[in-house]
Amino acid sequence: MSANPYPLGLRLAGRRVVVVGGGAVATRRVPALLDADAEVLLVAPEVTPALQAHVDAGRLHWRPRRFVPEDLDGAWLVQVAVDDPHAAAAVSAVAAERRIFCVRADDRAAATAWTPAVTRHGPVTVAVLGGGDPRRAVGVRDAVRELLNAQAAAGVGPVAGVGVGPPVPVGSGDAVTPPAGPVGRVALVGAGPGDPELITVKGWRLLTEAEVVVADRLVPGLLLDELRPDVELVDAAKIPYGPSRTQEEINRILVDRALAGKVVVRLKGGDPYVFGRGGEELLACAAAGVPVTVVPGVTSAIAVPAAAGVPVTHRAVAHEFTVVSGHVAPDSPASLVRWEALAGLRGTLVVLMGLKNLAAITATLTRHGRDAATPVAVVQEGTTGAQRSLRSTLGTVAADVAGAGLRPPAIVVIGEVVDALTG
Ligand code: SAH
Repeated sequence: MSANPYPLGLRLAGRRVVVVGGGAVATRRVPALLDADAEVLLVAPEVTPALQAHVDAGRLHWRPRRFVPEDLDGAWLVQVAVDDPHAAAAVSAVAAERRIFCVRADDRAAATAWTPAVTRHGPVTVAVLGGGDPRRAVGVRDAVRELLNAQAAAGVGPVAGVGVGPPVPVGSGDAVTPPAGPVGRVALVGAGPGDPELITVKGWRLLTEAEVVVADRLVPGLLLDELRPDVELVDAAKIPYGPSRTQEEINRILVDRALAGKVVVRLKGGDPYVFGRGGEELLACAAAGVPVTVVPGVTSAIAVPAAAGVPVTHRAVAHEFTVVSGHVAPDSPASLVRWEALAGLRGTLVVLMGLKNLAAITATLTRHGRDAATPVAVVQEGTTGAQRSLRSTLGTVAADVAGAGLRPPAIVVIGEVVDALTG
């Protein structure tokens, strides 16, 4: 293609964008479309678990079948993310007929629009087109990102002080450098609770240096959207075994890639050691002689209540907070939690993974002495654009959550702090 592309910023809020294909490319493209508030229609016989999660949360609409021309009714833009060139060409032919711009993952020359390499800094978006060479675009994007991050860290430059993305400290001592010998390394990185800007500076830097990223379902999609195209992205939610085999398989992938000399980031929601099985991964790597760095994350246990206006401690209100998993029912023989003892505490109780067993948990706490009038807040998808929350009391919260239709991931905060900032 000889002519230069004409750059534009598409304002997609409320406008239909059709994504054809439900694999890795679609998984990477969809978060930025959702971030732009596009009305996303996904057409694919099958989708990845990450896309399924968007469908389940009602963020996009999925037609579970092959593409038909009517799928483009009302569309402003089409993203073709299928491997089969014939299927892709069929979609772009319909798009061309209808004068709808069409991005083709499989064939840049056939596309009528190209997606640039992007870096986002608060309100500033930098988009780079590499004249047909995606690697050049990514190289320029990385250089610009580094410059803006360094300037922001120094408090100067065009994006300083505007809520910039994580600054990259220049010349920091413990950078992950490409391995000298055959063994790579693994970083267990906390991605934060959901807002992509809540990853740590160090976590972000390691992510930009990674050759392999193994990501959990709860990891913010926009972080993955900025990965270089040559990074191997392993979706841990997609590994097709039961919970225990899946963990074994994740451990195996981490160790295998590192032993092959790769720089691996294991990206986990929140903090890697808060109900994240990070310890098991560390032990597996250590047993194989793979060096591991652990990068703490902002845990949802503290950040999600805060995002809903609840401080986990407050002067003269609560001098302690306890974080507990509600995954195992209180009366189960497998429970390791002394709920009757927790009922006797007067501080803040933060329950993760607690929705399924909420009725049993609240009944146990009140039976053992916690006041049924204790204020409770429940926060779903905290720190994200989809955050929902409700206020209730220990006695009524289980019914209120069911009534409001709140769903995981959600956090339950129990204690007087729930009212601390609202009076
Ligand atoms: N390591 C994670 C927790 C993993 S357990 C951390 O430190 O945050 C998964 C549980 O975390 C979910 O079931 C939910 O209870 C909670 N959670 C994680 N992210 C959340 C979010 N954005 N909003 C509400 N709850 C969240």
